[in-house]
Amino acid sequence: MKIVHVASELFPYMKTGGLADAVSSLAGALADNGHEVAVFLPGYRTALEHKDAAGAERRMRLRIEMGDQYLSGEVRVFAPRRNLTVYLICREEFFDRRNPYGNGERDYEDNADRFIFFCKGVVETLRLADLQADVVHAHDWQAALVPLLVRDAERKQGVTLAVKTVFTIHNIAYQGLFPRGIFAHTNLPEDFNSIDGLEYYEQTNLLKGGILFADRVTTVSPRYAQEIQTPEFGNGLEGVVQTREHDIVGLLNGVDMAVWNPGTDALLPARYTLANLAGKQACRAELLKRAGFAANFRGPIFGVVCRFVEQKGVDLILANRDFFLREDCRLIVLGSGEKRYEDDVRAMAAAAPAKVALSAKLDEAMSHLIEAGSDFFVMPSLFEPCGLNQMYSQVYGTLPIVSRVGGLIDTVTDVDEFPETGTGLMCAPTAAGLGEVLPRALRLFADKPRYAAAQRRGMIRDFSWKIAAAGYERLYQESL
Ligand code: ADP
Repeated sequence: MKIVHVASELFPYMKTGGLADAVSSLAGALADNGHEVAVFLPGYRTALEHKDAAGAERRMRLRIEMGDQYLSGEVRVFAPRRNLTVYLICREEFFDRRNPYGNGERDYEDNADRFIFFCKGVVETLRLADLQADVVHAHDWQAALVPLLVRDAERKQGVTLAVKTVFTIHNIAYQGLFPRGIFAHTNLPEDFNSIDGLEYYEQTNLLKGGILFADRVTTVSPRYAQEIQTPEFGNGLEGVVQTREHDIVGLLNGVDMAVWNPGTDALLPARYTLANLAGKQACRAELLKRAGFAANFRGPIFGVVCRFVEQKGVDLILANRDFFLREDCRLIVLGSGEKRYEDDVRAMAAAAPAKVALSAKLDEAMSHLIEAGSDFFVMPSLFEPCGLNQMYSQVYGTLPIVSRVGGLIDTVTDVDEFPETGTGLMCAPTAAGLGEVLPRALRLFADKPRYAAAQRRGMIRDFSWKIAAAGYERLYQESL
């Protein structure tokens, strides 16, 4: 099949979270299976500076209609591996920036225009390059206009650009909600500017377009596919999702074992496998050292890696400050995002510098070291479409402590509840819930055989993308 992916993040060219990993692994797995895969990404500064893009070909110039004006752009193309081509939709004014969505404090003012331009650039390239896609698969709100724009361009120009369109919701909390006026910049027929289209309470909601108009809709875990049809997790779009109730499927993300594998991980100071965990001890010592603690500490290490946003439950960790300050343990946090979380975690670390450490930045190597060197990975999300870190933890022999929401339910089993099959610990997504589970972690840590058995079960689980990729292949095939 010829499969085109469209996303605002793609590891290793731009990443703020799981979207980048998921699109990269899925595209790679499909390419490995012999499909011809193209991925479209905005031409961010980091992507253009990446070594893979050094010889990128300037394939074509774009002239994109945006409302009543035309904006120019350019497409650069490179092929990082067999069967995989990356198309960068470039326009310096929009994408030559350090971050993809905002400056840390708030979102860029021109995000609507940036991503409308991106989507239009993709569709125009499909036409100019005559890519003849079987499937065009768009991800999240930044790419959500693509299914509509494909059909609109086909109608206007009498061509076929894609046999089928697929849209994946990686996180329904981010919807691309903008003032109504930006609808004009899409140049879509006025019919779409209604409650049956992009209109959402007097605003324009880009995600809604993807959900309503793609041929198939997916999300990243079976549990989340159910949850987003309810008011509690639907973020106001539950009614819209319900209209697709019969053709929305939840396909669990996987782990890219080329990147996240303790046996081969070049970002770690030492590698290890289930058969020989000595390297995990070396990672532990290095992690303690990097965090500024004595390397010979023997008690439990709790690791956290996340975007600093409300979703990730940082407030729940802060609310359990006394536990971490009282017990003989270490808490090592890597996070970046909202300043208030950075400030609060920093204050907690300042109150107990011998026990709590914060690294407030994006740091790929440190994220691997925390997964490898910790005993528990703490992820008390308030909601979680799929979540990757709790899967990485299991692969790395680190027991996840997660809340009972979304993809976390689909990927972790509580060891106290299911002693024969458990791979981690689970709690309610509240401060009290986390407060209840943390002492259970101490007891589990003290019981070495029980800890080792849960660790072993996690490490032998198959989280590989083979399973997920096969699910998408089936979906594409069925839709065709
Ligand atoms: P989300 O996509 O909601 O951020 P996931 O668990 O699905 O959550 O994926 C998060 C990904 O982002 C993981 O690969 C994780 O290691 C990475 N990540 C998050 N924060 C950081 C950080 N500060 N530094 C490096 N990697 C990070």
